[in-house]
Amino acid sequence: MFRLLFYAVLLILLARALRSLWRGILEGLNQPANARGNAAIPGVHMVRDPVCGTFVVPDRAVSLTVGRDHVYFCSVACRDKYRSHPGSRTGRVAGRTA
Ligand SMILES: [Zn+2]
Repeated sequence: MFRLLFYAVLLILLARALRSLWRGILEGLNQPANARGNAAIPGVHMVRDPVCGTFVVPDRAVSLTVGRDHVYFCSVACRDKYRSHPGSRTGRVAGRTA
């Protein structure tokens, strides 16, 4: 009796798992090619952090207004480094090697 119940539950779980797998495969096949995997998202404008060279999305970056320009940074540390050495385009201390 319990064995029959066990197999029934097992069968239901297996059917659900297969249905979920099949649905996932179909959704994956129906997606356009550029929405799959790690393809680049079109239309996202990125700017380079002048201190460390990291590319950042302006909407999410730390910014600094210099005159009429906006400069974007990956972090507050990079912005502060740039701010403390305004003459240097890279924000790095001249003559010092890392
Ligand atoms: Zn940075």
